[in-house]
Amino acid sequence: MSRSLVVGGGFGGLAAALRLRALGHDVTLVERHGDPGGRARVLSREGFVFDAGPTVVTAPFLFDELFALFGESRADHVEFLPVSPWYRMVDAGGRSFDYGGTVAETLAEIARFAPEDQEGYRALLAASKRLFKTGFEELADQPFGSIKDMIRALPALIRLRGDRTVAQLVNRHLKDPSLRMFFSIQPLLVGGNPFDTSSLYSLIHYLERKWGVWYPRGGTGALVKGLVDLAQRHGVRFRFGETVARINCRDRRATGLTLESGEALQAERVVVNADPPTVYRRLLPDVVRRKWTDKRLDRLKYSMGLFVLYFGTDQPYPDVAHHTILFGPRYREHLEDIFHKGCLADDFSLYLHRPSATDPGMAPVGCDAFYVLSPVPNLRDAAIDWDQVGPVYAEKILASLEERVMPGLRRHLKTAFHLTPTYFRDGLLTTHGTGFSIQPILTQSAWFRFHNRSEEVDNLYFVGAGTHPGAGLPGVVCSAKVVENLLRKESA
Ligand SMILES: Cc1cc2nc3c(=O)[nH]c(=O)nc-3n(C[C@H](O)[C@H](O)[C@H](O)COP(=O)(O)OP(=O)(O)OC[C@H]3O[C@@H](n4cnc5c(N)ncnc54)[C@H](O)[C@@H]3O)c2cc1C
Repeated sequence: MSRSLVVGGGFGGLAAALRLRALGHDVTLVERHGDPGGRARVLSREGFVFDAGPTVVTAPFLFDELFALFGESRADHVEFLPVSPWYRMVDAGGRSFDYGGTVAETLAEIARFAPEDQEGYRALLAASKRLFKTGFEELADQPFGSIKDMIRALPALIRLRGDRTVAQLVNRHLKDPSLRMFFSIQPLLVGGNPFDTSSLYSLIHYLERKWGVWYPRGGTGALVKGLVDLAQRHGVRFRFGETVARINCRDRRATGLTLESGEALQAERVVVNADPPTVYRRLLPDVVRRKWTDKRLDRLKYSMGLFVLYFGTDQPYPDVAHHTILFGPRYREHLEDIFHKGCLADDFSLYLHRPSATDPGMAPVGCDAFYVLSPVPNLRDAAIDWDQVGPVYAEKILASLEERVMPGLRRHLKTAFHLTPTYFRDGLLTTHGTGFSIQPILTQSAWFRFHNRSEEVDNLYFVGAGTHPGAGLPGVVCSAKVVENLLRKESA
C-alpha cells in the first residue's frame, strides 16, 4: 500500500488524511500538539470550553463530502445548527445591523440605514454571485501548478475585474459609510485588508448566502473530533505530540520525515499542513530551495496577527448575538495601522463570539462563554512585547465591551486568558505569528500562492491556509481536494 505522511492536524491536514485514506493509502498524520485542530483547537479553563479559532462554518457540503468518502453521513456524527443572525454588525455610533436570513430581510435592514442603497445591494450580490461562479465553483478545487493553469484562468479574472479590491467593489455599489464597512469585511476572515485584497474574495458574500452560516453542536471542536474519529474508524494513524524537524529528500524527492525525537518515518509522499513559509525555511534542506529562498519569502506580504481573549462569566448575556462585530471609530485608517504601519492603535474593531446563542450547551449552567478577537499587526510588522502589552490590551478590550455591549462585565468574569501572535509563531509555527499565513492579495493568489504540489521537491504537497485556494475553513478543506485531484492525475 502506498504510504503517505501528513504533517499537521488542522482542518486542511485532517481533510487531506481522509482523502488520501479514501484513495487507499496507508496514512499517518503527525501533529505537534497533543490534540488536533491547529487553529481550531479547543481550550478549556475552569469548567469553560472555548473554540480557539474558527466559529463560522460555511459551505457545509465540504464536510459532508469527507464523510461520504467512506459511505457515512456527517449528520449521524456532527449536527450543524443554523446561526441567526449570521452576524450582528455594530457601528461606532451604536447602530446595529443584523445580517443574514433572506435577501428581503437584508434589504429591510439596509432600508433602516440607507434606503437608497437597496438597489446597490442587489447589484453587489449579483457581482458576488458572478465571482463565486468562477472563483469558487470553477477554480477553488483546481490545481494552479503551472503557468498554463493561470493563463487559462486569466480571461475570467480580467472579466471579473480581479484587479479591483473588495473595498472598491463594495464602494461602487453602496454609499452609506456603515454599510460599506459591513459588506467589505470578508477579506478579514481570510487574513486580508479589504482595501488591498482582490475583489475575487467578495465571493464569500455569495457563498454565505448560498449555503448559510452554521455552528456545530458542541462547538467547532465537535467537528474536529468528528473528523478525527472518522479518520480513526477508517485506519488513519495519528502521532500527536510529535513535531516534525525535517522533511527528508533524496534527489529532490520527498522520502519521509524526521521527528524532533530523531525517529525517521519513510513514505512515498508527504503532505504538509504546516505554514508553507516555515516549511521552506525550516523543514527543507537549503540545497533544494531554488524558488522559495529566504529572500523571496521575505518579500511576501503576510496576514495580520490576532489577539484573542477568551472569557467566561457568572451570568448569561442573552442579548449578545452569536457573531457580533463591533466597529471602532476608524475603519480604513485602522486597517492601515495594522497592515501598513505596524502600529497597535488605541482604538480597535472587535469580533465577539457567544456560542451559547446557538448552542446553550456551550456554557456552564447560569454562566456564559465568549471570545473576543482583535486583529493586530503581525510580529514582523511590529515588534510588540506581547508579554508586557497583552494584559493591558486585554483590560482595554474588556472595558470597551463593558461600555458597548456587556454592562458590568468585569464584575462577572470567572475566567479570562488570551493568545497573542507569539502563540501563533511559537505554538502553531506560523511565520511572523500570522493568523492566516500570507495575505490573499491578487499577486499571492492562485498560481502566485504556494503551490499545492511543491515546485522544489517531488512527492511533496501542501494543504492549508498558505496554499491555494487560501485560508478559512472552505479554503483549507478545498485544498485537500486539490491534492486529491493532483494525485489522481498523476496515477492516471
Ligand atoms: C481566531 C481565528 C478565528 C477564525 N475564524 C474563522 C471562522 O470563523 N471561519 C473560518 O472559515 N475560518 C476562520 N479562521 C481561519 C481558519 O481557522 C484557518 O484558516 C484554518 O483553520 C487553518 O487550517 P489549516 O489547515 O491551514 O491548519 P492549521 O489550523 O494552521 O493547522 C496546522 C497544524 O500543523 C501543526 N504543525 C505545524 N508545524 C508542525 C510540525 N513541524 N510538526 C508537526 N505539526 C506541525 C500545527 O500544530 C497545527 O496543528 C479563523 C482563524 C483564527 C486563527
